Amino acid sequence: GYNQAVKENKSLYNLLQELRGNIRVFCRIRPLINSESISSIEHVGNDGSIMVCDPLKPQTTRKIFQFNKIFGPTTTQDEVYKETQSLIRSVMDGYNVCIFAYGQTGSGKTHTMCGPSGGLSSQDLGISYMALNDLFKTSTSREDVKTSSNGLLNLPDAKKCPVQSPSDVINLMLLGEKHRASSPTAMNHRSSRSHSILTVHVNGKDMSGNVTRSSLHLVDLAGSERVDRSEATGDRLKEAQHINKSLSCLGDVITALAQKNSHIPYRNSKLTQLLQSSLGGNAKTLMFAHISPEADSYVETLSTLKFAQRASCVELGTAHANKESNEIRELKEQVENLKRALAAKE
Ligand code: ADP
Ligand code: MG
Repeated sequence: GYNQAVKENKSLYNLLQELRGNIRVFCRIRPLINSESISSIEHVGNDGSIMVCDPLKPQTTRKIFQFNKIFGPTTTQDEVYKETQSLIRSVMDGYNVCIFAYGQTGSGKTHTMCGPSGGLSSQDLGISYMALNDLFKTSTSREDVKTSSNGLLNLPDAKKCPVQSPSDVINLMLLGEKHRASSPTAMNHRSSRSHSILTVHVNGKDMSGNVTRSSLHLVDLAGSERVDRSEATGDRLKEAQHINKSLSCLGDVITALAQKNSHIPYRNSKLTQLLQSSLGGNAKTLMFAHISPEADSYVETLSTLKFAQRASCVELGTAHANKESNEIRELKEQVENLKRALAAKE
């Protein structure tokens, strides 16, 4: 009885989310590390539910959250990617896809997106590498990346570079990582106070030969912790507040979307402008909510779970593949041929 109910609950929840086209939320719990011993995670159900409590007063603080999936501390990178792969396939079918990692510093965002050392040297490569690998595997053309100006964003230091393989992209990302504002805060030496965003534009053909155009955003967000926890001061504090501002703008946008407000404040930060089409438009969006299980992180864990819960209420509407039918393409080709013929005559 119970197992059946759990199964039904799971499929109903996922089905409803699927029908509504909601932001999908996967929660990932990293293992306890080093001296950490007491966990604030009380129970993880195989139905996507999770129960947390303040280990100091468990009786009165128990809270349950429900997501599309929970990855426990023993989940491997491969298992995580397997659950993500269908989204990567839909990029090839012409859907815009956005995958973003949220959570406090040290909760495993970079581990999920890139891998343990954030690089190629490791076995446990993350989603970005696996996704690029899949995209390159199916691609037939190795056309150099074309430069185009992004009308929406003014990123003066942005550069476009041609790539031939997943490792080219990862090496570029490592270079970016070096330039990324990060410094040892009290929380984690690999802490990052900036966002890392990798966008892949894909031109493809679907099964019926229709031309598809889509984009894939892979986003490793800055740590979501409150500033006072990382004991940042001076310039770092200013930067942290700025980062927290863009994350809180993201929070405002998600709240406004979840409440179906008529005004959605996308323009308040570059991050939300960049993610606008993925959060409110024609896209399939997946959020990884990362939590650190140790007792000390309880407050941040709770805040991440609440944020994630709000995100899972956001309905994106049905995403459409960006395709051009064969008919339209043929007509366009005819027009081009006629133009050429006309030009040749003149
Ligand atoms: P974040 O990017 O959120 O600051 P990291 O990805 O750097 O966090 O992870 C913090 C530490 O925890 C790193 O040493 C990382 O290797 C380790 N870690 C994170 N997630 C996992 C996991 N699922 N399995 C094993 N180790 C992990
Ligand atoms: Mg990181």
